[in-house]
Amino acid sequence: MLFDAASPDLSISTPSLAPGPAPLSPPAEAVRAARALAPRLFAQAAATDAEATFPGQEFAWLRAAGLLTAPLAPALGGAGLGAPAATEALLDVLRHVGRGNLAVGRLYEGHVNALLLIQLYGHAAQLQGWAADAAAGRLFGVWNTEDPAQGVRLEPLPGGRYRLFGAKTFASGAGYVHRPLVTGALAEGHGWQMFVLPADAQAPALDRSFWRPLGMRATASYRADLTGLEIGPADLLGPPNAYYRQPWFGGGASRFAAVQMGGAEAVFDETRRFLQRLGRTDDPYQRQRLGQMALLRESGRQWLRGAAARAALPADAAAGPQPAAAAYAGLVRTAIEQIGLAMLPLAERCVGARGLLQPEPFERLHRDLTHYLRQPAPDAVLADVGRFVLDGHDF
Ligand SMILES: Cc1cc2nc3c(=O)[nH]c(=O)nc-3n(C[C@H](O)[C@H](O)[C@H](O)COP(=O)(O)OP(=O)(O)OC[C@H]3O[C@@H](n4cnc5c(N)ncnc54)[C@H](O)[C@@H]3O)c2cc1C
Repeated sequence: MLFDAASPDLSISTPSLAPGPAPLSPPAEAVRAARALAPRLFAQAAATDAEATFPGQEFAWLRAAGLLTAPLAPALGGAGLGAPAATEALLDVLRHVGRGNLAVGRLYEGHVNALLLIQLYGHAAQLQGWAADAAAGRLFGVWNTEDPAQGVRLEPLPGGRYRLFGAKTFASGAGYVHRPLVTGALAEGHGWQMFVLPADAQAPALDRSFWRPLGMRATASYRADLTGLEIGPADLLGPPNAYYRQPWFGGGASRFAAVQMGGAEAVFDETRRFLQRLGRTDDPYQRQRLGQMALLRESGRQWLRGAAARAALPADAAAGPQPAAAAYAGLVRTAIEQIGLAMLPLAERCVGARGLLQPEPFERLHRDLTHYLRQPAPDAVLADVGRFVLDGHDF
């Protein structure tokens, strides 16, 4: 059954915002809302830590906090988080949501990514329609990862319509996301086309047995078979091959890295809490490890600030900074992968075997972060950075 974001309990109000001397900008308001929401997401995370669940309540909270529309431009009813100048705020929002619950962060990052692509490539009528969908609580996602045996293709029909064949894997939120942005091959090598599937009317066939993961259980990342579904011209987004255009494709790595960084920060926060609760704060070895973990956390935050600074460079600097933005995002995702991988064993040594028992959150945090750190082609991305600098470019 499709998730109806209008139906979950919306009675829990938007986190209250204390009056300040000067009103915050809409991006800063979004950061404040996400920061305020993180503890509530964290408290709820164990309850949805299962393959057959979806964090619908959490998305009702995100909606109530204005975060489902926040990536849209103000003219479309959003907070403008998609503007290059607001990238630091966007990455902060993603980090806070990931800190609360990495599975929710993954799903929310897909929603954000789809809305950014729609704003890059959609025409006016599409923008209005999809912005209204987001305002109505409809969830978006991006499904690009192919079924290795049977990738998605679009077969033309009369009237500019297409019949779909093939399947996606790791289709996060499948069965709950109303508007997945999907990619597929056009006939006779005409390229790789984006379209937004109205999944509430054209529902893919789901194979839930695909999703028996180590972690990230609540993302519902099933196999989705689109065979036999039909789309029309209004569902197509942008020209063929737009999906992989740089720097937007590579630059997007900073967004999933921000969510991952939130997961690493949750490990830090909980380790500190655990040691404080047990009164184990005077031991020099524990102190040294917490110092090392604080260093990792601050490094990750600095990497995200660096990514935001480069994304905010003016577009007319395309000859220089724009290719650098994608290469830099490759560094950011690699650095944050290493930060996550270094944070986990430090935390495990701090909390010991007792800390790895439920209801302590560490075993879930470990599973979720370990799984979510696996992203496409990690080695090739770093090799691309090597080629970039060997070719004489720099950041
Ligand atoms: C929780 C979760 C949710 C996800 N949700 C979505 C979603 O909603 N939409 C979506 O599109 N995708 C989604 N994905 C998929 C994700 O985007 C990646 O496709 C996936 O994580 C790839 O990871 P991988 O480790 O299998 O990558 P790979 O690229 O297969 O890397 C694995 C290893 O193989 C190596 N390698 C890569 N290519 C080659 C090659 N040609 N020859 C030899 N070695 C190679 C790499 O260097 C690495 O060592 C999700 C993934 C996760 C974990």
